[in-house]
Amino acid sequence: MTETNHFYETFQPSHYDLYLDINRETKLISGKTTITGNASQTAISLHQKYLKVTAVEADGQTVDFQLDQPSEAIRINLKQAGETTLTVTYIAPLTDSMMGIYPSYYEVNGEKKQIIGTQFETTFARQAFPSIDEPEAKATFDLAIKFDEHPGETIISNMPEVRTENGVHYFDTTMKMSTYLIAFAFGELQSKQTKTKSGVTVGVFGTKAHKASKLDFALDIAKRSIEFYEDFYQTSYPLPHSWQLALPDFSAGAMENWGLVTYREAYLLLDPDNTSLEMKQLVATVIAHELAHQWFGDLVTMKWWDDLWLNESFANMMEYVAVDAIEPDWHIWETFQTSEAPMALNRDATDGVQSVHVSVEDPAEIDALFDSAIVYAKGARMLVMVRSLIGDDALRKGLRKYFEAHQYGNATGADLWSALGEASDLDVGAIMNSWLEQPGYPVVDAQVIDGELTLKQHQFFIGEGKNAGRRWQIPLNSNDPQAPVIFKDDKLSLGQYDDVRKRLNEPFRVNVGNNSHFIVHYDDTLLNDILAHLDQFDAITQLQLMQDLRLLAEGQQISYASVVPLLKRFADSKAAVVITALYSLANNLKKFVLPDSIAEKQLQQLFDRLSSAQVKRLGWQPVAGESNDDQLARPTILNAALYAQNSDAIVAAHQIFMANQTKLSTLSADIRGLVLTNEVKHYGSEKLFDQLLADYRQTADASYKSSIRAALTSTPDAALIGKLIAQFENADVIKPQDLRGWFRGVLANAHGEQAAWDWIRNDWQWLEDTVGGDMEFATYITVITGVFKTADRLSEFKAFFEPKINTPGLTREITMDIKVIESRVALIEAEKEAVNQAVADEVE
Ligand SMILES: [Zn+2]
Repeated sequence: MTETNHFYETFQPSHYDLYLDINRETKLISGKTTITGNASQTAISLHQKYLKVTAVEADGQTVDFQLDQPSEAIRINLKQAGETTLTVTYIAPLTDSMMGIYPSYYEVNGEKKQIIGTQFETTFARQAFPSIDEPEAKATFDLAIKFDEHPGETIISNMPEVRTENGVHYFDTTMKMSTYLIAFAFGELQSKQTKTKSGVTVGVFGTKAHKASKLDFALDIAKRSIEFYEDFYQTSYPLPHSWQLALPDFSAGAMENWGLVTYREAYLLLDPDNTSLEMKQLVATVIAHELAHQWFGDLVTMKWWDDLWLNESFANMMEYVAVDAIEPDWHIWETFQTSEAPMALNRDATDGVQSVHVSVEDPAEIDALFDSAIVYAKGARMLVMVRSLIGDDALRKGLRKYFEAHQYGNATGADLWSALGEASDLDVGAIMNSWLEQPGYPVVDAQVIDGELTLKQHQFFIGEGKNAGRRWQIPLNSNDPQAPVIFKDDKLSLGQYDDVRKRLNEPFRVNVGNNSHFIVHYDDTLLNDILAHLDQFDAITQLQLMQDLRLLAEGQQISYASVVPLLKRFADSKAAVVITALYSLANNLKKFVLPDSIAEKQLQQLFDRLSSAQVKRLGWQPVAGESNDDQLARPTILNAALYAQNSDAIVAAHQIFMANQTKLSTLSADIRGLVLTNEVKHYGSEKLFDQLLADYRQTADASYKSSIRAALTSTPDAALIGKLIAQFENADVIKPQDLRGWFRGVLANAHGEQAAWDWIRNDWQWLEDTVGGDMEFATYITVITGVFKTADRLSEFKAFFEPKINTPGLTREITMDIKVIESRVALIEAEKEAVNQAVADEVE
């Protein structure tokens, strides 16, 4: 993009009157936008994209304008600067892009229907109405909408509707807010509503394709989340209502529009009688995340997109704080440790990764900022680090001040640090800047050198990494109270190891609780001491040990083979997080074996040994009253047994299938995906395949859909794989929002890898036309990178993607992903033999 100035510098809007007439038949929107504001100069610019502007008036007088498409601008020359009212009349297309104003498609009893909804973050409000489409340009909005309305349709928006006149729905004036948070939707909606203790109306909306009971869980979580935040932030929810709306077509996971949060159906609606605990937890954290934004993001907004992390990192931490408070039995922070922590540690170890805080101007690059592993997961870890440094009292006190000072306005990271610093008497900014402004993270080498316990820090890389001499202010969290709180130098001595060990009376450790964003490389003395006392440690410490060993092995700082003999020590754990970490490590060994090789057989035997006692203990069916840990561990354990080709497990799953053939959707959601996958793999037929695909199309249950997707993509039958890929571009069967999961499934299937890879290369243009320009687009490349592991695939990957390296929004992803595959190929080459030998030794 050529434009580098922010349009807000030329014109500061204070109020918008938006009028939209939306016709679903003609797929056209006619609009009229009146903006009152201050022009700082006579040459001003408004944002627009794809708008056919027919007239612009300034204070009632027609003025000349030019459309500047590359800059997504309307250039206007005013007679004079100062207070001005602009009126823009235009026509816009209603497109199926899941951006701007767009239709979502669904079926009820075979009848095709649609809901019109919106997605304006990041820069798509300009596709709906001309505006200063920048987060800093906050204004109030009066929204008026007309559409080709039928009886029985409902329309909702950020604020309540105040009146309908001549078919036009008028909504109450909004608070001062950013354009990207405006939202509305209409169609045949059902809803359930309740009120919070403080009187906020909370509602959940969805299409009528769903059973009404599927709205209940979300309604309860949303209500209690808002009540929690009002208390935690000591700041009232600022709007009269909080609507949660599930849209059948939705690109991201959810979107925090102020007062009208939109979600993927899978992340809002669930069957209260048959949903896995894992999925319930996921839905609850998504809702809590979006509602955290209603204050942090919506009430106070980042000044510019470079501080996107401020919104996302914070909401990503608060989703866990909130869910931990409202559902304490879930121990949701354990999920943080098994999902966000490894996601951040993996991605952040590749040289060339973005820092949490990045400068950005180009709209295409703004979308590429949404690197979920960095901006969300790593950012959340940064804030978890701050929280554990300053404590909840200071956090809450600081936040209240922050909201008071910046409400209905904008803020930067520095504003947050100063509020938290004041509340805690710590220089939070200095500590955090070392984490936010620099990419990557440190490994701390803990060693006994000539009897002295020594810590060193240096950047950790998986694959080639250039030593840039980076240093971090590391919250050490040692179990040695004499160790410093912050380790900021290259090297630190903690005195004679024997003395420390005697004083501690337990193995020396750092990063206790795994809340700081670094890993530890203990030397043999220290590691053996920890391993000798393994049983004394809590689940998080055991998880952390496996997490760090896995990363060190991926980074070739220790040998993978040395880790193999340790696996069995964790195999019988009753803690779900330990089981998750164990199999995350064990699954990483799969890359060292070829399909149908002796090495693969031996690895399968290892999986069998690791899982067999647990399969016996847990069984296939959930048991009433069992612990959350058992519920969460069962699918992981059974999956391991199936990978192991354990014949009892294969038969058991088949019997469950046979007994439930006519009611597959009612199979327990915990094991349904495994049962169906087992059936397709070992007892599959074209008839079963067609039946499942028909069920997929017909069901509105996102959880059942994902079970079917897992099963169908695992077929070993080349003809069926071809049949599946033929549906990739048929939106009536596989919606574009769900395609990535299907693509990943087939690509990760050894029998489907070639066909899926051929498909994406041949039809890349179709993919770009369908989901390009969307913030999820680059993740298709990440998916491929997650699978490829041979030198041949690496060169094919380079041949295909290197010519695309200058595509806006893809540059970093392609550059990083080449490194990721390169390092994996090198690792396999270097360690394959030793790893396979170590596995063979285990199963002999
Ligand atoms: Zn968010």
